[in-house]
Amino acid sequence: MVPVGHVLNIDMLADILGCNITHLPMSYLGLPLGAKFKSKQIWDPILEKMERKLAGWQRMYLSKGGRVTLIKSTLSSLPTYFLSLFPIPVSVAARIDTIQRNFLWGGMGEGKKFHLMNWSQVCQPLHLGGLGIRNVRLFNKALLGKWLWRFGNERETLWRQDWVHFARYLRFEVGDGTRIKFWTDPWCESGPLKEAFPELYNISRDKEAWVADHLDYQNEVVTWSLNFIHPAHDWELEMISSFMDVLYHSSVKGWGPDKVWWQRASGKGFQVKFFYKALLPSSGISVPWKIMWKTKVPPRVRFFVWTAAMDRILTVQNLRRRHVMVIDWCYMCKASGESTDHLLLHCPIVYDLWSCIFSLFGVQWVMPKGVLELLACWGEGRGKSKIQDLWNSIPHGIFWVLWWERNTRAFEGKERSVLELKWFLIEP
Ligand SMILES: [Zn+2]
Repeated sequence: MVPVGHVLNIDMLADILGCNITHLPMSYLGLPLGAKFKSKQIWDPILEKMERKLAGWQRMYLSKGGRVTLIKSTLSSLPTYFLSLFPIPVSVAARIDTIQRNFLWGGMGEGKKFHLMNWSQVCQPLHLGGLGIRNVRLFNKALLGKWLWRFGNERETLWRQDWVHFARYLRFEVGDGTRIKFWTDPWCESGPLKEAFPELYNISRDKEAWVADHLDYQNEVVTWSLNFIHPAHDWELEMISSFMDVLYHSSVKGWGPDKVWWQRASGKGFQVKFFYKALLPSSGISVPWKIMWKTKVPPRVRFFVWTAAMDRILTVQNLRRRHVMVIDWCYMCKASGESTDHLLLHCPIVYDLWSCIFSLFGVQWVMPKGVLELLACWGEGRGKSKIQDLWNSIPHGIFWVLWWERNTRAFEGKERSVLELKWFLIEP
């Protein structure tokens, strides 16, 4: 029993009905009742659950590949109904990002943990050099997208900013025009009329008008009436005539409900995943993601190749970029300049290893400039054969062995000869 306001004899009532007394906000079927939808406290249980889950795993030894999988699974186990009902407060989204970020880059033991890649990059899809972890803020927006249309007339009170962005991905079919904004929604071919005819928009009397306000439907004929602040000047006539052309050539029905279609999807309904994709920043470098992520090697090796391809592994050069002062030298050839490309491709000692592999496969090879370029041309002509699988896993294998050898040399002072490394690679 939940008393609203002051209720007399509530104890007695509860006794008679045989129930307990509780107060708002309370939770019912996991949904907060009586809480303000913008309040942060409704997110507390979710944050706690997420923290508890990830903290439990934090203490275990987990490879980076495993961590990515766990992050994706905890995120997808976040109650989607929460995310599809409430706009997530900025601070809560930031907290979720931090929990995930620390989990990804953290690990056992002490010492400074480098975050090798910034979070927005991590949230990019694989083909743009990310890990495809969902950006919770954008995913929330994408889920809320379905309300933007459903709420129709209420939309401007709640969602003004989002709506403007959202409308770009929609196709409108004007029925009676009662739910579509005349000037700002892109309902005719030329896009929003406000943008196609800014001068006329400026002199329009009602900038927030619905299409219905200017539309008249009688005897199956649509006619348009506009309302400007002043009568048209001579020099505006041409513009008005082409404006009218646009209106009379639009496919407005004049009756029935307004409809909205999702522009890019094959089906016409709203689809969260398309909206989410549309919301993601489109910038990013294009990477040969198939060879990076689909090659048959352990997930932690793929993760390493990803960081190497993005030039984020902690070589001497990259450590110095992060203001860690270390002696500038390559542990393999003992000369200066340990960059990612030097260590993995061009170092003379390392090149010996590559040549050995090339001669085994009987190929001539010109070493490209960087790791990303190498992966890009390595993956060409991917077939399905076993030899092809083996060939595709070579860069992963060599990079992994080199990094392991480099770290053994750097941290344990032990050294294997190139011959030993060759055997190590060739042995199954
Ligand atoms: Zn070297």
